[in-house]
Amino acid sequence: MVEIRKLKTAKLMKKVMADHFYEIDAAMKAGNPKVAWCTSVGPAELLRAMGFVVYFPENHAAILGATRTATDYIPVANAIGYSPEICSYLTADVGAYLKGFTPLAKIYDGIETIPKPDVLVYNTNQCRDVKDWFEWYARRWNVPCLGIESYVNVGEVTETHVQGIAGQFKKLADDLTAATGNKLDMDKLAETVWLSRKCSDLWKEVLEMATHKPSPLTFFDGTIHMGPAVVMRGTQVAIDYYETLLEELRGWVAEGVAAVPGEKFRIYWEGMPIWGKLRENAELFLRLKTAVVASTYCNSWIFTALDGNDPWNSMARAYTELFIVRDDDYKEEYFIKMKELFDYDGVIFHDAKTCPNNSNCRYGLPQRLQEKAGVPFVTIDGDLNDLRCYSEEQAITKIEAFIEQLGERQ
Ligand code: SF4
Repeated sequence: MVEIRKLKTAKLMKKVMADHFYEIDAAMKAGNPKVAWCTSVGPAELLRAMGFVVYFPENHAAILGATRTATDYIPVANAIGYSPEICSYLTADVGAYLKGFTPLAKIYDGIETIPKPDVLVYNTNQCRDVKDWFEWYARRWNVPCLGIESYVNVGEVTETHVQGIAGQFKKLADDLTAATGNKLDMDKLAETVWLSRKCSDLWKEVLEMATHKPSPLTFFDGTIHMGPAVVMRGTQVAIDYYETLLEELRGWVAEGVAAVPGEKFRIYWEGMPIWGKLRENAELFLRLKTAVVASTYCNSWIFTALDGNDPWNSMARAYTELFIVRDDDYKEEYFIKMKELFDYDGVIFHDAKTCPNNSNCRYGLPQRLQEKAGVPFVTIDGDLNDLRCYSEEQAITKIEAFIEQLGERQ
C-alpha cells in the first residue's frame, strides 16, 4: 500500500504547538500575562496588542476530535441541556471539562488543565455557538465575556459594514481595559496586524502550492499545518514556520514530488474536516489516486484585507469578508474562482450534522453550481467531532462512486 508522504516540517509543527501551549500554561500559573480565550476568527490581533496570551478553544475541541475522545464527552454536555444538534466542538469541549479531561495533559508533560482565562472574547462572524460556548465558561468561572456581534449572509462588504464592525472593535478595546486593566498600545496593534497579514500571505502561498500538478500537499496536510495560522497569527513564530514549510514545498514541486503519487483527480473539499477520520480519509483518497487540493476550511485563515496602516477598518473588513459570513451568490462565485485556480474536477460537500454554518449543501448551492459551471459534486453526511453522525461505509461508497463517475467523464 502507498504510504502518506509526510512533510519534514511536521516535526517543527510539533515544537511550535508545544511552545504555544506551554506559554499559555505558564501565564495561567504565574497570573501574568493575562490569558484571553478567543474564537478562531476572533480579534486575536487586538488581544495580542493588549498584552494577552491567547488560547483558542476550537483548536482544543479539534484535538478532542482528532484524538477520538470527543464522542465520549459530547453526551456529558447533552446531559446538562446542550443539544446533540448543536456544535460538537462546544459539546465535546464542555463535556470534557466537566469530566476533568483534556488531551493536552496526555500530550504535554506538566500541563494538567485547559487554561483558565482572565477574559473570554468572541466574534459571532462564524456562528452563535461560539458565544454560547464562551458564556458557559464565563458563568462557570465568573469571568467577563466580551465580543463582537457580526453580520451574517453578507453579499458585498460595504463601508457601512466595515464602520459598524470597526466601531465594535474600538469599544471592545475599551471594555477589555475596563474588565482587565490591560491597555492598548496602538504601535503594537499596527505591528501585530502586519505580522498577521504576513502570516496570512504565507499561508495563502502554502495552500496555492496545490495549484501545481501534481500537488505537493492535500487538504489533509492543510488541516495539520494550519495550526500556526489559527493560533499564532500576529506572531513572528507563525511567519518563520510558514517560511520553512514553503521552502520544503517548493523543493517538492521542483522535484515533481506528489502528495498523491499518480494523481488522476483533483477535488475540492467543502465543509468541516471529520477530525476523527483524517487518516482514514487521507488513505482513501490516496488509494483512489485523488488529491484533495483545496478547501474552504483551510482557506478560512486567509485575511488579505489586514493592513497595519489602518488597523481598525482593516480588521473589521478582514473578519467580515470571510466565506462563512457571506451569502450564497458570493459563495457560488467563490467556488468558480477556486475552480479556475486549482483546476479541480469536482466538489465533495461535507454536510456536518452539528455545524450548519459550515455546511453549504442545504440550500441548493451544489445544484446551482453544477448548472452554472458544470461542477460535479457529491454530498456526504458526517460531522466534525461526533463520529456517531458519520457512516463511514456509506461515505466511502459515495466517494468511490463519485470518483468512478469522474473517470467516465475524462
Ligand atoms: S462554525 Fe461550526 S464548528 Fe465552528 S464553532 Fe461554529 S458551529 Fe462549531
